[in-house]
Amino acid sequence: MPDPVVILGAGPAGLACAHRLVKDSEKKVILIDKARVVGGAGASFRWKGHILDYGPHAFHARGDEPEKLVRSLFDSDPTLLIEGHKRVHVYLKRKRFRYPLQVREALLKFNPLLSLRIMLEFSVTSLFHAIVSIPIENFENWGRKRFGPTLYRMSFGDYTEKVWKTKAVQISEKFAAEKIQGFSFINLLKKLLRIGGQVTEPYYQSWIYHRFGSGQIYETLAAEVSASGGQILLGCDIRSIESEGRRVLSVAVEHNGTAQRLKCSSLVSTIALPQLVELMGDATPFSVRHAASKLSYTSLIMVYIEFDIDAVSDDHWFYLLDRQFAFNRVTEQKNLSRFTMEAGKTVLSFELTCRLGDELWCLSDQDLVELARRDCTHIHFIPSDRITDFLVKRVPNVYEIYYKNFDQYADLVLGRVREFENVVTIGRRGLFLQGDMHQAVEMGLAMGSILARETPDPAAISQFYRRYVKYIDG
Ligand SMILES: Cc1cc2nc3c(=O)[nH]c(=O)nc-3n(C[C@H](O)[C@H](O)[C@H](O)COP(=O)(O)OP(=O)(O)OC[C@H]3O[C@@H](n4cnc5c(N)ncnc54)[C@H](O)[C@@H]3O)c2cc1C
Repeated sequence: MPDPVVILGAGPAGLACAHRLVKDSEKKVILIDKARVVGGAGASFRWKGHILDYGPHAFHARGDEPEKLVRSLFDSDPTLLIEGHKRVHVYLKRKRFRYPLQVREALLKFNPLLSLRIMLEFSVTSLFHAIVSIPIENFENWGRKRFGPTLYRMSFGDYTEKVWKTKAVQISEKFAAEKIQGFSFINLLKKLLRIGGQVTEPYYQSWIYHRFGSGQIYETLAAEVSASGGQILLGCDIRSIESEGRRVLSVAVEHNGTAQRLKCSSLVSTIALPQLVELMGDATPFSVRHAASKLSYTSLIMVYIEFDIDAVSDDHWFYLLDRQFAFNRVTEQKNLSRFTMEAGKTVLSFELTCRLGDELWCLSDQDLVELARRDCTHIHFIPSDRITDFLVKRVPNVYEIYYKNFDQYADLVLGRVREFENVVTIGRRGLFLQGDMHQAVEMGLAMGSILARETPDPAAISQFYRRYVKYIDG
C-alpha cells in the first residue's frame, strides 16, 4: 500500500481536499491539525447556551461546486441550512449607511458642503489623472486616484489603516484592487443622475449558514471524511517535515504525548507559508527564510458581549469606519441563525485587530470590554444597560497583510515549496490570500481532484497556482 497523502490543517481547504480524495480515490489520507476542533477559522465554539463563530462566518453561495458540496452534506435534512442575503451597514460620521455605500444615500445624509467637496474633488482628480499619468505605488495612491482624497479617506483609507494597523502608503495597491474591485464612482454618479449605471457589489450577497453555527459544516464534512476511511488527528503538534532531495518523506508529529513519524506520498499544506518554511528546516535557503519572515499578519481580538434582549439590530454585521471607534466590525450572529443563541438573549461580537504582543493584545479582558462599551456609547441603538456578560478571545495571526512587495516575497517562498515534487500548498493561509471559505473549499476540491489521480499531473498543479495566486504577475 503506498504511503498516505498527509494534509496539514483541518480547516475548510484541508477538509475539502481530504473529502475529494477519500471519495474519488483509493488513496489513504491523514489530516493533522494542532487545534482540538476541525473547521479552522470557520469553526464554532460553545459559550453558556450560545454557539459562537469567530466573527461572521456565512458561507457565500455562488451556486457552484463548494456550495453543492456543503448542501450535499445535509441532504438528509436540508432544513439544517439557512439561506439569506446580507444585511450589512457602515457607521460613518455618526450615521448609519447601507453597505456597500450608495452615493445617493451618502450625499443625502452627509452635510451638503461635504457632499459638494467630494464631488469637486472627484471631478478634479479624474481630470488630473486623465491628463497626467502618475504611477500607482501603494494603497493610498490607488484610492486617492479613484475617489479623491476625502471620499477615499472616509470610505476606505481610515478603515484600512485601522484594520491593518499600518499606514496606507505601506500597503500594496494590489490589496486595494482585490478588495475594492467592482466599486465604481462613475457608476454611482450615473445612477445618481439617473443616466444608467450599475452598482456592482464588491462582495457576495447570498449566503448559506448552518442553524447551529458555521462550525457544523466542517464537523459534518470531517465526519464524512472519517466515515470514508480518512484519519483525522486533532491536537497534533507538527515537529518537522523531513525531506530528501526534491521529495518530502515524512512529517514528524507529537500526538497525545507520543512522537510519530507519518510517512507520506504527497504533502498538502494549508498552514501559513512562513510556518511551512520553518518546519522544512535549515536546508531552506536563507533568502527563502528571509522572504517568509516578511510575510506578516494582524491578529484578532474578539469581544463577545451578551445582552438580555431578543435582538439589538437586524443587521448581520456592521462596520465602524470612523477613527473614533476602536473596534472594526460588530456582528449579531443571531441574525444569521436564531438557533445559535439562548432564548431571549443576543450576543454581539466586536472585532479588533492588532499585532501579536502589542499594547492592544496585552490589554486585560476587562479593559477590552470597557473599550467596547466606549464604542457602544457612539452607536445609538446599542443598549449598554442591558449587558449581562462578556467573553474575550484572542486569535493570533489571522489576517494576511499585503505590504508593498509582499508578492515578491510570497513568490520566492512559493517557488521554494514548488521545488518539492510531492508538496503542494493551498487555502487562504497556504497561499497568503485574502479569500473566503468558498474559495478555500474550492481550492481543496480542485487539489483533491489533481491528487486523486495515480500520478498527479504537474501541469495541472501549475495551472492551479496560476488560477489562485493572482498577485503573481503573469
Ligand atoms: C474574523 C473573520 C471573519 C471571516 N468571515 C468570513 C465569512 O463571513 N465568510 C467566509 O466565507 N469567510 C470568512 N472568513 C475567511 C475564512 O475564515 C477563511 O477564508 C477560511 O477559514 C480559510 O480556510 P483555510 O482552510 O484555508 O484556512 P484556516 O481556516 O485558517 O485553516 C487552517 C487550519 O490549519 C491549522 N494549522 C495552522 N497551523 C498549524 C500547525 N502548525 N500545525 C497544525 N495545524 C495547523 C489551523 O488550526 C486550522 O485548522 C473570515 C475570516 C476571519 C478571520
